Amino acid sequence: MTTDIYRFQVGDFQCVAVSDGTHTYAPPTFPPPAIFLFTNAPREHLEKTLGEHNLDPRHWTEWVSPYICLVIITDEHQVLVDTGAGSLAPTTGKLINNLKAARITPKDINTVIITHGHPDHIGGNTDSEGRLTFPNAKYVMWQDEWDFWTSKEAETKLDEHVRDVLLSSARKNLPPIQGQLQLVSRETEISPGIKAISAAGHTPGHMALAVSSKGEQLLCVSDTVLHPIHLEQPEWHAAVDFDPKQVQATRRRILTMAATEKALVLCFHFPFPGLGHVSQSGDTCRWQPIRTTS
Ligand SMILES: [Zn+2]
Repeated sequence: MTTDIYRFQVGDFQCVAVSDGTHTYAPPTFPPPAIFLFTNAPREHLEKTLGEHNLDPRHWTEWVSPYICLVIITDEHQVLVDTGAGSLAPTTGKLINNLKAARITPKDINTVIITHGHPDHIGGNTDSEGRLTFPNAKYVMWQDEWDFWTSKEAETKLDEHVRDVLLSSARKNLPPIQGQLQLVSRETEISPGIKAISAAGHTPGHMALAVSSKGEQLLCVSDTVLHPIHLEQPEWHAAVDFDPKQVQATRRRILTMAATEKALVLCFHFPFPGLGHVSQSGDTCRWQPIRTTS
């Protein structure tokens, strides 16, 4: 099976999970994965939980995270969700080639939805010369997200360890889309069958999407959860989560929504293609990845 392109259907919508590559999170740039992903987890409980996932914190020295964008093709629209990391690392910026392999032409994309302003989600907004990668698209973001990254607030409220890398990416990748930008501030349809869902916490205006057609539903949750363990322990936040309290509330809401509606779920950082279902019993959720055939 290719680990770059995965086609699936949501009702009448043709969808494609498209890899932008992977990025390795490891010291010295990042904390060890168990600390980076589960910053506030009580040590003993964490070790036990990691063990259940066949992870030994002493030997789990790097987190190789996929970056998974999404294309939704409807009768009228070709919609891309997030543009990947661009040239952030030698292993990222594969989106354009993988779109071409899927026979999707960047100029045919007429809507680009940006779930949030982190470098791995906006880094492909422009090419190496600073031109828009998707020149014919309207770009859609949550109002609070745009306001945060384009205001002084980001300078004062971001953790000093990540501030420079986050701000330099936002300053490079957000201004070019301003002329084609549409901001949303409530849970409304961006285009028929694609609804913006408020999922604030990971960033101030982080957005999820509910995609529905012919009674089938896909929830694109972006970075609401970064690792399957976050479904089981929604109170364990990651070092990059902006507002841990809000992250917890958002996770519970979105995961309950996914489980209740038996929606297919797409997680940006999960093993490719990032698709699965959420099962819920009582207060506990679990991730059930779809079976992919080779
Ligand atoms: Zn991300």
